[in-house]
Amino acid sequence: MIIAIDGPAASGKGTLAKRIAAHLSLPVLDTGLLYRAVARDVVAKGASLQDSAAAVAAAWSLDSATLDDARLRGPAAGDAASIVAKMPRVRLALLDYQRDFAKQPGGAVLDGRDIGTVICPDADIKIFVTATSEERARRRHLEHQSRGEPITYDAVLADIRQRDERDSNRDVAPLEAAEDAITIDTTTLNADAAFAAALQVISAKAKPPAPVAAPKG
Ligand code: C5P
Repeated sequence: MIIAIDGPAASGKGTLAKRIAAHLSLPVLDTGLLYRAVARDVVAKGASLQDSAAAVAAAWSLDSATLDDARLRGPAAGDAASIVAKMPRVRLALLDYQRDFAKQPGGAVLDGRDIGTVICPDADIKIFVTATSEERARRRHLEHQSRGEPITYDAVLADIRQRDERDSNRDVAPLEAAEDAITIDTTTLNADAAFAAALQVISAKAKPPAPVAAPKG
């Protein structure tokens, strides 16, 4: 079973994807890490994030073993990722890795911005997770505080709005819900309630269609 989970920054999609994957014993891929890692590698080469040749080269040579890197966390890495993520040839270079991950025997859970629309348009389940920008900023700000990182709520909100704008208005694979995605608005839901809502979506979709009554006579 392939489960696509998309949504804007700090909507709770990553947490949800991990919980669903653990519940169903499926592998999970946080596709945002791929773009974050490409941006990291561009900077490490001394190139500008706007340098599309450098970004495309970094995307083709990305080593998936380097995705577990603490430097990929945080708003600066997310911002940098959204700059290289606008480049069509960067997206193309990362396409097969994501599709191959999805096609593992038994399936997989992938979360990102374009999983249900571009990467896995035939996914069995598509969920679009969203929440107001203020609520997403509130959550992200709490996370920063818990790690002792000095950043104001207003700065987090501004970052989230800028990222939404960049991700939603780019020419290729913009952030948007697939037509057949079910939206879960987590503005007033905690992680447990969002998980329960997602499980409902999955069990409703996974149910076999009701048998068609045989014609009489
Ligand atoms: O999900 P995360 O915040 O880690 O993503 C970082 C950035 O990577 C996003 O703001 C977006 O620009 C880009 N991204 C993308 N497509 C994906 C996942 C992430 O364009 N499937």
